[in-house]
Amino acid sequence: MDKEGGEQAMLLDNDQWNMFERNHRGYDRGPATGSLKFQLRQFAEDTLGEDSLKLAVNLPEGEDKSEWIACHNTTCPTMSAGPKYEYLWVDRGEYVRPTRMPANAYISNLMRWINTLIDDETTFPVEKDARFDENFITEVASVVFKRLLRVYSHLYHHHFSAVCDAGLKSVLNTSFHHFVLFVTRFRLVSSREFAPVRDIVKAIM
Ligand SMILES: [Zn+2]
Repeated sequence: MDKEGGEQAMLLDNDQWNMFERNHRGYDRGPATGSLKFQLRQFAEDTLGEDSLKLAVNLPEGEDKSEWIACHNTTCPTMSAGPKYEYLWVDRGEYVRPTRMPANAYISNLMRWINTLIDDETTFPVEKDARFDENFITEVASVVFKRLLRVYSHLYHHHFSAVCDAGLKSVLNTSFHHFVLFVTRFRLVSSREFAPVRDIVKAIM
């Protein structure tokens, strides 16, 4: 796990947040439905389930469309977000040193890593009233969301026209909008991590 996620900053000030909250009533489930931890887990599961992000990454199964949208070794030899940002994969298994790899390999590793985390009951306790580790938010959730942001950044920089051609622009934008609201609401990702998609955030929020 890398160490870049320590800095916490808000992208939105309180007024902006209140405005977004008014526009997205129902999103903030409030204390009755569960804690921040509960919501984090719920959100991560949603993202990994039938969520549009995964849909957008995998779509589509068709013939020509798969070529348009494909993210493979030749189209995306690095996990980048435009010319200025490249992300290296690191974990506690096969890649203990930050490793350059094609975007599809990075994303596969990321999804596998998140699935493993969620299945690990010491990280994501399932027992009622079980306590999460005190470092869960800074050392697990923040890293998960930071890395998921990189997938969005890669998609916007390298696959946006294909996403539009496949009719998935609103799916991607809505999914990203939800993501940004969530991570800013709970201050999960440092604002500097948004640098590659700063203009996109401004445009869709
Ligand atoms: Zn790609």
